[in-house]
Amino acid sequence: MMEPSSRKTELDQDDQEQEQRGVRCPDCGCGHAPVYYTRQATGGVTRRSRECRHCGRRFITSEQRVGG
Ligand SMILES: [Zn+2]
Repeated sequence: MMEPSSRKTELDQDDQEQEQRGVRCPDCGCGHAPVYYTRQATGGVTRRSRECRHCGRRFITSEQRVGG
């Protein structure tokens, strides 16, 4: 038997952390992930914790202010 060597792994993709708009759930890809927690980190970095309303996946996005 021959095994097809077309295995794709989409989990190793490192998305850029600058996603202020159109944040999508990394799990289901939907765009309904409201912020439920916001934390101001050092260096002008704002971290937002989001929870997907579709699948319940929680993930963190970080935004960096430019020119403050
Ligand atoms: Zn989701």
